[in-house]
Amino acid sequence: MVRENEIREGEVVVELPPPTDAGLIFIGRIRTPWNSRLETPRQGRQDGPVCRIEIFDPWVPALKGLDLYGEVEVIYWLHQSRRDLVLQSPASDKTTRGTFSLRSPVRPNPLGTSIAKLVGIEGSTVLVRGLDCLDGTPLVDLKPDRCAFTPIAPPQPGDFEVGDH
Ligand code: SAM
Repeated sequence: MVRENEIREGEVVVELPPPTDAGLIFIGRIRTPWNSRLETPRQGRQDGPVCRIEIFDPWVPALKGLDLYGEVEVIYWLHQSRRDLVLQSPASDKTTRGTFSLRSPVRPNPLGTSIAKLVGIEGSTVLVRGLDCLDGTPLVDLKPDRCAFTPIAPPQPGDFEVGDH
């Protein structure tokens, strides 16, 4: 069940440490048809509506080459989420699960990710299907689909030493 910001029976809130975030740079803004969490899909679908990802200056040139891919990984900041739950009750039925066993937007660092279908690029705007975020959600990063992406440089000796993880 989608939440606004309420605490449900059985859920556990912790005191947040002082905000010492890594200093993310929001590189754009995502325009979607959804203005309420209650109407936003739980997970995006690639047959969902076209959403517009507006890239801010000076990051527009960073889109070069993205059109070579059919799918793009979109990473966004679920800016309206609370961040202080360690146990959550997704079904609001008193049963709880740990935050890290869920894809809930409620998490200490509310990053959302979706593999979206790339529909096109129009100047500074990337058109995709497959998102599940509110209109105006800040964009953190775009990456080409990891399966289709071929590293540009071949692996070098020493790239994979014993002990690397
Ligand atoms: N696909 C992403 C993932 O798996 O990391 C996000 C999944 S999360 C379950 C999607 C839900 O987050 C939406 O249904 C909506 O309730 C909520 N949501 C979307 N945009 C949000 C925002 N900007 N701030 C807070 N919550 C948001």
